Amino acid sequence: MAKKMQVVFASAEAAPFVKTGGLGDVAGSLPKALKKAGADVIVMVPKYSTIPDYYTQQMQHVGEFYVSLGWRNEYCGLERLDLDGITYLFLDNEHYFARSYPYGFFDDGERFAFFSKAVTESLQHLPDGFQCDILHCNDWHTALSPVFLREFYQGLPLYERVKTVFSIHNIAFQGQFSDTILNDVLGLAHIPNAARQLRCDSSSINYMLGALNYTDAITTVSPTYAGEIQTPEYGEHLDGVLRRRNNILSGILNGIDTVEWDPSTDYQLTENYSVDNMEGKAACKAALQQELGLEVRSDRPLMVMVTRLTRQKGMDLVTYALDRILSGGVQVAILGTGDYEDSMNYFANKYPGSMAVRLTFDSALSRRMYSGADMFLMPSLFEPCGLSQIIAMRYGTLPIVRETGGLKDTVIPYNQFTGEGTGFSFAHFNGDEMGDAVFRAARLFWDDRDSWNELVKHAMTQDFTWKRSADAYIDLYRSLHPDVEVMPEPEPEPTPAPVSEPAPEPEPEVAPEPEPEAAPEPEAAPVEPVVEKPAEEEPATAAAPEPVEEESVAESSEPKAEPVAEEAPAKEVKAEEEKPAVKPAAKKTTKAATKATTAKTAATKAATKSTATKTATKSTAAKTTKSAATKTATAKTAATKTTAKKTAAAKTTATKAASAKAAAEKPVEETEAPKASTAKTTKAAATKAAATKAAATKAAAAKTAPVKSATEPAKPAAEAPVEEAKETKPAAKASTAKTTTKATKVSAARKTTTRRRSS
Ligand code: ADP
Repeated sequence: MAKKMQVVFASAEAAPFVKTGGLGDVAGSLPKALKKAGADVIVMVPKYSTIPDYYTQQMQHVGEFYVSLGWRNEYCGLERLDLDGITYLFLDNEHYFARSYPYGFFDDGERFAFFSKAVTESLQHLPDGFQCDILHCNDWHTALSPVFLREFYQGLPLYERVKTVFSIHNIAFQGQFSDTILNDVLGLAHIPNAARQLRCDSSSINYMLGALNYTDAITTVSPTYAGEIQTPEYGEHLDGVLRRRNNILSGILNGIDTVEWDPSTDYQLTENYSVDNMEGKAACKAALQQELGLEVRSDRPLMVMVTRLTRQKGMDLVTYALDRILSGGVQVAILGTGDYEDSMNYFANKYPGSMAVRLTFDSALSRRMYSGADMFLMPSLFEPCGLSQIIAMRYGTLPIVRETGGLKDTVIPYNQFTGEGTGFSFAHFNGDEMGDAVFRAARLFWDDRDSWNELVKHAMTQDFTWKRSADAYIDLYRSLHPDVEVMPEPEPEPTPAPVSEPAPEPEPEVAPEPEPEAAPEPEAAPVEPVVEKPAEEEPATAAAPEPVEEESVAESSEPKAEPVAEEAPAKEVKAEEEKPAVKPAAKKTTKAATKATTAKTAATKAATKSTATKTATKSTAAKTTKSAATKTATAKTAATKTTAKKTAAAKTTATKAASAKAAAEKPVEETEAPKASTAKTTKAAATKAAATKAAATKAAAAKTAPVKSATEPAKPAAEAPVEEAKETKPAAKASTAKTTTKATKVSAARKTTTRRRSS
């Protein structure tokens, strides 16, 4: 009988034990879906001291071993916990993991080298005769596992069958460290192939680069992002290696745990609701407004963000456009921590009753925000997949997103002609465009509640379950291991029993700041009355050390029987001694398999989406939307052409467009740029200039509107005044407002080289 597929899934976070962002969500829910799809899965996570006692008390000590790291020999305990049918193994070493936060320490390079090596070592200590077929590593924290596996363990009988998959959840965080640790910590300095494939410059090595060179398959979390990271604009200096290895690179969209995130059962909501009975959502909104000190009004659209307050998440655009948004009658609430806390506080003080900020990590509040809001803003500079916009849709809160990465793959922009859509979007990383998109949403909320409600329905009925993604991962695993079997579990749809037992929340990962009350005091500048006018508006296949270039993995995965032993402690030396000269590693890439997998994924995607709503897949929908709009617009060319971007442009002169853009982007460059290379900065600037020029051209063609001064940041002549919003919905439905439904899809100028929390 064929062996069942057995997968070890290694991650630095996994909900509900530890989570700082999307990686924790993915590692918390994908393994369950993989199990349902027919694989056995063990999840490996560091045993942080921040894991709630509720869980640590249930852990069982099932083994221990030592891990060699350069000259060190470090203890590693294996603590087991079974939850929801998944076995979790927590790798225990208090020196490395008994800290107050998962990342951000001076020795992160050593901590996660330890974790990666311990993961690899532990494959021979797995419980219940578990024999790993696939080692699935996630992000830079586990990126050294494929390297260690090939350099130190390859050839040992248990390791012979192990294929590695490496998933990029965010390429901005790569694990880049001084090359001194090559010898001191990794013990790889004496293996020239390894040293070369990890090196990213004359004095640094890069863990993710190592994984990309060594792994058998690479995935990232959305198809669009898979394409983007092969370009210099998004590739964060790894685009070259990704282009070289693109035959093993694929994008598989994340899902969400639809039982965990379900407004009809979520016990933390003020009232439950579902797509069939939305009454509870109004109560959630009123309660949220009350809780945050906002005016309790059903007629004011409430837009929220639940996010890290970082440049990646588009906080520059938010800062730029908040005056316009708030004075235009939209309420805003922000939950998050990060670099923009002061500016968010400034706006909360300036617009009491309209703007609230909570500078903390609070899962329960995030749920109340997803449920109580009308709109969810996510204007990311780049976004590998993004889960927040998906959760928002699940809770009937319409996302407003920039068309990048997974945001583009998950949100179907509203098409006023066909009524299709699950949210609103804009193309360029530009504050005015974002503002236009916000007011397109707000206008629909005010003026056409039926269409709004339809859109909410579409959003809530999209299929974002993990099943689709899990099937795609299983296809990928099978392409690497055609000899093993998957045995899907029968699919008993989880009956949405109300979650009665509050699962303990993971400890806040970000130290909560003292919070200002949301409705601050009189010295706050009064909201200025605004001119009254409504607003306008391919999967990897066989492991394939590449037959190429000097840096090719082929070289490394065919170890040249290098004498390795000198500094490695006993265990590792043994491993190396036993390592056979050659692993038949250079499997040929099977294009047919790749295609089949791709086709299957696409088919599944299409099927599920068309079932969920009639709006079809994102990509087809986008196309449909585009062509439908185009057709409809034959007679209305001018109207259709008045896209979000154009609307912004039309309101201004060319000069305004240029200067406003400059104003919007100036802080970006000033505050964030430091790591960007000159070449990149120049390129981005050139692209921006081109975009500005395009806007200017369009502006000239469009009818002239009042000139806005660049020094007067986007104070809307166009948006609904607060007063009016308070009373009734704004009366005049500006025709221009209705003309803008589809944001142009032009690639945006953007760049970042920020290395955040983790590297
Ligand atoms: P990221 O880039 O941070 O991983 P994602 O959208 O993929 O972004 O995932 C973010 C996850 O973290 C979501 O589940 C979101 O609800 C959660 N989250 C982010 N910030 C906070 C916060 N301040 N409080 C509670 N949950 C948060």
